[in-house]
Amino acid sequence: MNHFECSRCGVLNHKTVVACASCDWPLQLDAWKSSRHQLRRLSLDTSCVNAKQANPQINLLERWAVEGRVVLERSNVFLQELKGHSRQAKAALIPPHPAVWKLGIPGQSELGITTMLGGADVGDEVKTVMFPTTTTVNRNQMADVDHIRDHVMTGSHAFVTLNVNDFTRHGKQADLRRRGIWVFTPLEVTQLLVELYSWDA
Ligand SMILES: [Zn+2]
Repeated sequence: MNHFECSRCGVLNHKTVVACASCDWPLQLDAWKSSRHQLRRLSLDTSCVNAKQANPQINLLERWAVEGRVVLERSNVFLQELKGHSRQAKAALIPPHPAVWKLGIPGQSELGITTMLGGADVGDEVKTVMFPTTTTVNRNQMADVDHIRDHVMTGSHAFVTLNVNDFTRHGKQADLRRRGIWVFTPLEVTQLLVELYSWDA
């Protein structure tokens, strides 16, 4: 496959371009340095709840959120997937993704503070990227796909996960990136943010 659909605007881009031809959304890492787009809204996977504050990079993201540098969001499937009271209590503190803008739906038809213009529904395509050899995905795998779907539809900028097997290994990170879907581990995203914006780590 030589062309990939931009998950932000739907335009087809050749696999070698560094940013989307239509909306400028970065499709390669280097493009962030000179981009008019900024990495600010981050979706957290369930693996990043950090109830015990044991992950220093997630602690750092949480500090940056308090300082107003980033916005941390959880997907709508997030709470259903969590087990354990302390993790649920912690997750409830992270604001959910804003409602997706939908034409003709009362309360969601006007772009404003509480609604965002959503990206494409990338469910089926992402499922193939994440689980290429699986004919029937199980519930946990489907929840992973739904996380990315939610992340894209709500227009969030990057998805942060510790689950490297499902989201980044075996070329998955690059495959998603060609579509404008940015998936990072907490370490990767904090390193990139420090590099891009010279924030204190
Ligand atoms: Zn685009």
